[in-house]
Amino acid sequence: MRHKLVIGNWKMNGNRAANTALLSGIVAGLNDFGADCAVCVPAPYLAQCQAELAGTPVAWGAQDVSIHAGGAYTGEVSAAMLQDFGATYVLCGHSERRGYHHESNALVAQKAVVALAAGLTPVVCVGESLAEREAGRTDEVICAQLQAVLDAIAPEAVANIVLAYEPVWAIGTGKTATPQMAQEAHRSLRACLANKHAGAAVAVKILYGGSMKPENAKELMAQPDIDGGLIGGAALKSSDFLGIIQAV
Ligand code: PGA
Repeated sequence: MRHKLVIGNWKMNGNRAANTALLSGIVAGLNDFGADCAVCVPAPYLAQCQAELAGTPVAWGAQDVSIHAGGAYTGEVSAAMLQDFGATYVLCGHSERRGYHHESNALVAQKAVVALAAGLTPVVCVGESLAEREAGRTDEVICAQLQAVLDAIAPEAVANIVLAYEPVWAIGTGKTATPQMAQEAHRSLRACLANKHAGAAVAVKILYGGSMKPENAKELMAQPDIDGGLIGGAALKSSDFLGIIQAV
C-alpha cells in the first residue's frame, strides 16, 4: 500500500505573517489523517518553515532548483542550499516553469538528478496542454516528459522520486480532470515507470494536481493509481488544505 501524500504548492504567494497563520493552522488541524503532508514554498520562506515546522508532521520543500552546484549563477538556488534549510521535497518541471521559463524535458531531468544527489525528493511534474489532449496525445506527451527523467537516473533511484500528473488545462482554472481521466493518465505513467524498474513502479507515489479542492479530492484519491495531490490555490487556506488531507 502506498501511503498518501498531499503537497501544497504555494507558488509566488505569501508573506511572513500570512505564512505563520497558514502553517500554524495546518499544524493545529492535522490529526491522524493517514496522509503525509508538505508545503513547497518560495525560497525566501524556507528558513521560516524550518523554524516553524521542525518537529511537526508537516515537511517542507522548494519549487525549483538549479542544476549547478554553486558559483556564478545569479538568481539560482542550489540543492545544497535547499538541504541546508531542511527541505525534503523540490518540485521539478512544474508546467509554469516549463511554460514561462522554457524548461525542457532534458533540463527538468537534470534538476531531478541534482535533487536526488543532494538527498532531496524530486516531485517531477508532467502534464499535457488542452491542445495535446484534444489531439489524443496525452499519453505520448506525459510519458516523454517522464522518460527524460528515467533516462537520466539509475533504476535504483526510481523509488526515490515522486511524480505529479498535472494537466495544464486544469491548473488554476477550476476545471478538474475527471477521476477516470486522471486514473488513465496515472496508469500510463506507472506503466512507464515499470519499464525502468518493475519493483519501484509499485512504490512510486503519483500525485494528481489541477484544481483539487476538498469537494473533489475524495473521488480523485479513491482511484487506484492516485496517491495524493499537488495543491495550488486550495493550499493557501488552512481549512481547504486540511479538507483535502481529510478526504484521504
Ligand atoms: P491549482 O494548482 O490547484 O491551483 O490548480 C496546482 C499546481 O499548479 O500545482
